Amino acid sequence: MKVTLLGTGSPIPSPDRAGPATLVQAGATNLVFDAGRGVLMRLSAAGVIPPFVHRLFLTHLHSDHTTDFNDFVTTRWAMSPVDNPLPITGPPGTAAYVDRVLHMLSDDIGYRLEHHADLNWNPGCSVTELLDGAHPADDVLTANGVTITAAPTDHRPVAPTVGYRIEHEGTVVAIAGDTIPCEGLDALCAGADIYVQTVIRADLVTAIPVPRLQDIHDYHSTVEDAARTATKAGVRTLVLTHMVPAPFPGSEPEWIALAAAHFDGEIILGPDLTVIET
Ligand SMILES: [Zn+2]
Ligand SMILES: [Zn+2]
Repeated sequence: MKVTLLGTGSPIPSPDRAGPATLVQAGATNLVFDAGRGVLMRLSAAGVIPPFVHRLFLTHLHSDHTTDFNDFVTTRWAMSPVDNPLPITGPPGTAAYVDRVLHMLSDDIGYRLEHHADLNWNPGCSVTELLDGAHPADDVLTANGVTITAAPTDHRPVAPTVGYRIEHEGTVVAIAGDTIPCEGLDALCAGADIYVQTVIRADLVTAIPVPRLQDIHDYHSTVEDAARTATKAGVRTLVLTHMVPAPFPGSEPEWIALAAAHFDGEIILGPDLTVIET
């Protein structure tokens, strides 16, 4: 499998890091996880246009992970030569969220339907919601030799949140989303070739005297947390993303050293469009 970091940024705008989104390509299957700021720009740079995405997965409904969903659904609709509903998998609340976004877009949808004679269907989304209630894990789908499972993660008070495990030809990729270490995360990562984790630098966040920023400590993995999860699960490669705060250019080795104190495997912290293969 091929993993492309479409966006490695966080809610804080950055000139060169788009919002959180990750592309996983398993054979000819294109899977996108989250739809943060700039997702379609990065997706096009990775050589994929919206009509060719097989499924969009949401880890949770925080705005930094969903803010360009409207662009995703509109552009897929406008670029597709035939009705091509977007399959979406996400936590409970996803269907209502999608309905509200489509409602927000109703003016634009009306303009385009009226103007283009060959466009006579509404933008469609087929939504599957996961982890509604106490299910420990959900089978998401098996298709084209790709098996995806999901497990609950812990980003409380944001709940429920979901992480994903993608298996293809004997290799495994785990996409965690925002979470602290937890049982569900351990299950997703067990023996993974690649584990992608959103992280914060606790020492740097603590040093920024903004009370609102201090609130993020208790619901995100630190760099060290991610490394400990990777060790516990026997992961091959740990990939850090959604770094808060965004690393100053040249400081990347510092971040990697913090992780390396707790994990012996490969550690990657790169720019947007970094590619990692299983
Ligand atoms: Zn979040
Ligand atoms: Zn986030």
